[in-house]
Amino acid sequence: EQAQDPSTEKDRVRVIVRIRPVNNREMEKNDRSILHCEGETSILVEGAQPSRRFTFDSVFDVSSTQEDVFHYSGIKRLVDMAIEGYISTCFAYGQTGSGKTHTMLGPGGAAIFRMDENYRIKNFGLVPRAINYLFQRLREKAQETNTPFYIRVSYCEIYNEQIRDLINPGHTESLQVRGSVEDGFYVGNLFQTYIETMDELLTILEEGELNRAMASHNLNDTSSRSHAMLSIQIEQDIQGNDDPKEQMTRQGKLVFVDLAGSEKVKVSLSKGKQLTETNNINKSLLTLGTCISALSDPVKRAGHIPYRDSKLTRLLADSLGGHGITLMIACISPASSCENESLSTLRYANRAK
Ligand code: ADP
Ligand code: MG
Repeated sequence: EQAQDPSTEKDRVRVIVRIRPVNNREMEKNDRSILHCEGETSILVEGAQPSRRFTFDSVFDVSSTQEDVFHYSGIKRLVDMAIEGYISTCFAYGQTGSGKTHTMLGPGGAAIFRMDENYRIKNFGLVPRAINYLFQRLREKAQETNTPFYIRVSYCEIYNEQIRDLINPGHTESLQVRGSVEDGFYVGNLFQTYIETMDELLTILEEGELNRAMASHNLNDTSSRSHAMLSIQIEQDIQGNDDPKEQMTRQGKLVFVDLAGSEKVKVSLSKGKQLTETNNINKSLLTLGTCISALSDPVKRAGHIPYRDSKLTRLLADSLGGHGITLMIACISPASSCENESLSTLRYANRAK
């Protein structure tokens, strides 16, 4: 299928929900599921609060496989668009433990890259599947048109409104967001590396995970307090339409963001430095919600979008606005103990539609 200009389509922002299965700990506590999928697009929440129904572009229930999510999430369209020169962004939103990293990379995050091949084929998340598809499509195109392509990758995290390079953490200059709304924002001094194979990308993701920030009060979860952002820049030499001898470069971008956990940390637990951290995390998630919701409304879209209010939204400005297309994956747990967080995630996702 042919990629289409997103400006002619309503689904510039696609919002899908994935429900993870009840886990053993919840099962032991008899923590029952309060979510019911109705058809392929609706969820009914029947917990302690009045029942509510939400509708999205697509809903993946507990039985959905990684392959299902790859085929039916719309991610292939994002890859196709990035090849055509657009900026495509996919991000995972949800409370810690809801399945963001599972959906993006696979069970246990980058640990999946050390598993045997059969396990990986079955359990790979969206990122490795999308990259595999990207390489496949680009190779086909390169053969058809006899023109080369280049893929450049950067990987960083935003922790407490500070950017850290996950490919080159030794890199001590402070990394700042540069650029403008018009020309796009980027991280100055961020390391970028060319890759030629899927394995090279997997190595970057594995090393990046080791480099992710450690929150002092929660040593078990190194990733719940920062946003991890993988940018894949695609460059292709193409021939000019009028003059086939004229060579041009087409550039597209595919961005994946595994967002910080959306749960609200209890204020009593958050003092001093930790409170700032919480505010900063919530600030960028709140700003992201505001920006996406404004962008999905044709009237608000023409007005002021508050990209500048957080580092995350500045960096995503070109993907979210401009000619970008966005896929938001809201991850939720079905357990009754997670009712409030799940409702809050569903409301956030609903606002983005
Ligand atoms: P998050 O990144 O949102 O904090 P994780 O992706 O780490 O959450 O998921 C928490 C746990 O639940 C992990 O052990 C993960 O493998 C498991 N899990 C999440 N989603 C699913 C799923 N769809 N199917 C099976 N297990 C899942
Ligand atoms: Mg995670």
